[in-house]
Amino acid sequence: MAKRFIIGIDLGGTNLKIAILGPKYKIRDKKVISTKRFTRKESLISAICDSINRIIENNKLKKTAILGIGLGLPGPIDKRRGLVHFFPNIPGWKEVNLKSILEKRLRLPVFLDNDAKLMCLAEYKLGSALGFKNALCMTLGTGVGGSIIISGSLYRGANNAAGEIGHLPINEKGPRCNCGGNGCLETYIGNNRIISEAKKMFKRNVSLEELSALAKRENKQAQSIWLKVGMHLGIALAGIVNLLNLDAIIIGGGVANAGQILFDKVRETVKKQAMSVQARHIKIFKAKLGSDAGLIGAAILVKEGMRG
Ligand SMILES: [Zn+2]
Repeated sequence: MAKRFIIGIDLGGTNLKIAILGPKYKIRDKKVISTKRFTRKESLISAICDSINRIIENNKLKKTAILGIGLGLPGPIDKRRGLVHFFPNIPGWKEVNLKSILEKRLRLPVFLDNDAKLMCLAEYKLGSALGFKNALCMTLGTGVGGSIIISGSLYRGANNAAGEIGHLPINEKGPRCNCGGNGCLETYIGNNRIISEAKKMFKRNVSLEELSALAKRENKQAQSIWLKVGMHLGIALAGIVNLLNLDAIIIGGGVANAGQILFDKVRETVKKQAMSVQARHIKIFKAKLGSDAGLIGAAILVKEGMRG
């Protein structure tokens, strides 16, 4: 039987997404599992293995029909060795060779990369970044990830750790960040910050979805939170635009669903703050593949990895 299927996994700060992808990266089945219960590294690894075995079983596939498993992970990864250096938002992971652990347990080829890089790869091959030679792709979630395409290829940097725009300091006296720094962009626009601002303002728990809905219904307080997020993001992006003279910036992740109000503020701030030649040229779009980008990117990683 031809190996026609790939398993893609996208691990975030709160959820694990898993999918089986068929030819042309079409998603055949997808599950989202909360990872809150799995606070220990070992239990999270077991949960990953269980979810893989279960999705193979539920789809009545044989392991021989599977080309490999691709994982997008929320932190710096040594892609070649399959090593997780650490996760800024998941404690207990330090220099873990997840590739060899999973290959031993699952007996399938495993490939790892940083989640933002995989989202970028997917948007570049099939989504909003298609056709742009110089682009930044961002994911806005619990963590704020990024990845850069320069002259048509993914820029990885010296240690495969380039693109961490969430950890661009925007205020040296700002809040302490999980990465060890201070005043990183993520501490201003990450999910946790937005939700805590909303709680302070409304004196109750407000989800991101509700905050977006309130802003769309012209609630001034909700709008003020999104305008602040857009301003902080715009400031960081203005610096990136000046530095790299990009063609496009693609923004995805849950926070991007805030919609027009956020994108307008980001565009306005970049236009105001960046240098005119770079600012005139830049296009800022919402990601096209939505929350599936990471899964599709993970499948592309397997395909490219198997090709060698
Ligand atoms: Zn940081």
